[in-house]
Amino acid sequence: MKHSQLGASKAHRWMTCPASVSLEATFPDEESFYAAEGTAAHALAEMCLKSQKPPESYMGVEVEGFVVDELMAYFVAMYVDFCNSQEGKGTIEQRVDYSDWADGGFGTADYCVINEGICHVIDLKYGQGVKVSAQRNEQLMLYALGAMHDADEPVDTVQMTIVQPRLDHIDSYSLAAKDLYCWANEKVKPAARRVFAPDPAFNPSPKACHFCKAKATCRALAKHNYELTLSSFDNLEEPLLVQVPHTLNVDEIGNLLPKMDALIGWAQGVQKHAHKLLMEGGILPDYKLVAGRSQRKWVDEQVAEESLIQILGDKAHVSKLVSPAQAEKLLGKAKAGEVTDLWHKPDGRPTLAPDSDPRPAVKPEAVDLFSEIQ
Ligand code: SF4
Repeated sequence: MKHSQLGASKAHRWMTCPASVSLEATFPDEESFYAAEGTAAHALAEMCLKSQKPPESYMGVEVEGFVVDELMAYFVAMYVDFCNSQEGKGTIEQRVDYSDWADGGFGTADYCVINEGICHVIDLKYGQGVKVSAQRNEQLMLYALGAMHDADEPVDTVQMTIVQPRLDHIDSYSLAAKDLYCWANEKVKPAARRVFAPDPAFNPSPKACHFCKAKATCRALAKHNYELTLSSFDNLEEPLLVQVPHTLNVDEIGNLLPKMDALIGWAQGVQKHAHKLLMEGGILPDYKLVAGRSQRKWVDEQVAEESLIQILGDKAHVSKLVSPAQAEKLLGKAKAGEVTDLWHKPDGRPTLAPDSDPRPAVKPEAVDLFSEIQ
């Protein structure tokens, strides 16, 4: 499939870091397992919306290299049902063109429906690694811009929805059509021009760099992260003499924490890149590949099973109760309510979060602290 240089799915990146477009173009396209799985889920959703058949009816069918199973059918149904519940006639996999604002810019909106002056763009996200917000989501705003621009009826409001079934997440955002045009003129147009300027600038940021293909080797990001770490310490000459000499104080820890996610993500990207380099026969000074930990396996599972049944009888097999989530999936939506009284959700273990996190603060239980110490 032909991709636009100023693709909507990368809009946050090129609008933040103009140099990312030319730098990423020097890296080969590599489709991860998760991306391929997402492509299959999208293809299944398209088939269901076009045929108006439920995803379950495609179970066992191979779609884009993946055989549709119960789980995929269950998750895709959430998106298909959401699209089918919208008023008006929708278009599926609609090509949207926003090249009036970003040179050569086009994309494909998963589902788009215009009804009574509202242009609603719905996007399926099949991943479960990062919860995607619809709030001022540049990708959806560009899709809505293209859809609204090509609409043959007047649009006064745009609505954008992300359906991320594997995280049970549906998020919507609306704004007036005139405000979307304002954003396109004031933000998208200048950002697109910066990309094609003679010497585009690098502008590292956690969100822009997160999925950038250049992340592991980008010098601007490496420099930024190095400076970010140093900037956590007020006085580098005499950093820790004032309070406890050899330990970080709470202010220094507090300064470091907000930067950790970006630093960890970057460090993992560099490690992954180094691993790939050696796997492909490259040389990395002072580093080599060694065999990792492995687990014992039966040489022949069938022979082992027969022998173990003779020796251990019933104890040769273990059976385990399915989890509430697995039970609900096996029962299907219609019958999932029958087991609601059988499960409860205990409080999760206390997790570190910034003050801005919308969840209320919890007090650590004394018993937790003791078990941790043990
Ligand atoms: S890693 Fe970050 S700074 Fe470097 S090109 Fe990509 S987005 Fe820009």
